Amino acid sequence: MRGGNLDLATRLRERFPRLKLTRDFSFARHTTIGCGGSAAASAYPAAAEEAAELLLWLWTERVPHCFLGTGANVLPADGRFEGVVVCFSSLSALYADGTRIYAGAGVTGGRLLSFAAERLIGGLEAFSGIPTSVGGGITMNAGVRELHFSDVTEQVLASEKGKLYLIPQKDCAFSEKESVFQGGLAVLGAYLNGKRSDAATIATEACFYRRRRAALPKGRSMGCAFVNPPGKTAGELIEACGLKNTRVGGARVSDVHANFILNEGGSSDDVSALAELVRARVQMQTGILLREEFRRIP
Ligand SMILES: Cc1cc2nc3c(=O)[nH]c(=O)nc-3n(C[C@H](O)[C@H](O)[C@H](O)COP(=O)(O)OP(=O)(O)OC[C@H]3O[C@@H](n4cnc5c(N)ncnc54)[C@H](O)[C@@H]3O)c2cc1C
Repeated sequence: MRGGNLDLATRLRERFPRLKLTRDFSFARHTTIGCGGSAAASAYPAAAEEAAELLLWLWTERVPHCFLGTGANVLPADGRFEGVVVCFSSLSALYADGTRIYAGAGVTGGRLLSFAAERLIGGLEAFSGIPTSVGGGITMNAGVRELHFSDVTEQVLASEKGKLYLIPQKDCAFSEKESVFQGGLAVLGAYLNGKRSDAATIATEACFYRRRRAALPKGRSMGCAFVNPPGKTAGELIEACGLKNTRVGGARVSDVHANFILNEGGSSDDVSALAELVRARVQMQTGILLREEFRRIP
């Protein structure tokens, strides 16, 4: 087989001459946690059809691959990944029909909110300050107490094995930090529903949510490491177990918010080992098994 003798980036280039791609992708440079190894290649499809063709090829050729948005909720493995990182940042279409917005998977939360505000579309302000892409936000059902992506999503344009699907909200299996898109179905874009608002209300709301986030720890993290168990917060449980400031190598439990694991020059193995230690200690001391919120890739 000819492909077997060529490196992955070259095979991709031969099969998709117009596709934007890079060789030797660094996970540390493309994730908020700032650690992890490298991948053989990364690919940036710029249209839904191109993404679908790429995904079909990766699947047919059995090429290992993973998906990446803005990298705000992932822990990439250390070492070398002989596969392709599919990045969605070039799927950047954004348009509105009334208060209904179509956003490509690669549109960032900041761009989405500015676009909506310019058109006096409100109802999305609670996402202010969450580091996300539309694709990652839908996949993770990101949000805050008051609003999650599941609340504003009407339909999702998705792809698997070369097929394109328009999936209605009710079939997205949204729940706490979960959705149907975590099993290999790629989000390519989504129709989101805002509501008619005015400039002053949008600015006030956005400011309120932004201010509330000011208390979050600074530094490299994946946001909250663990999902809140029913009726409790993971941060309070971790703090009650005396785990603030616990360290493994270059990873440390924040002393500001105990559900944040900070990378202070460590490896993904350090972060992973610290997350395991926290989970084990909380389970031992409280009987509650915390669920990781972040995703391990590849
Ligand atoms: C400082 C900080 C604060 C945060 N605050 C919040 C918060 O308030 N609320 C909250 O919910 N989260 C928060 N997070 C976590 C993170 O912002 C969200 O989970 C966000 O939605 C992740 O989006 P992303 O584009 O970065 O996805 P990534 O981190 O790149 O990916 C997350 C997962 O989705 C998959 N994925 C990405 N794009 C696609 C796609 N197009 N199709 C299919 N799968 C895809 C990835 O493979 C991975 O499994 C915070 C993170 C940080 C660092």
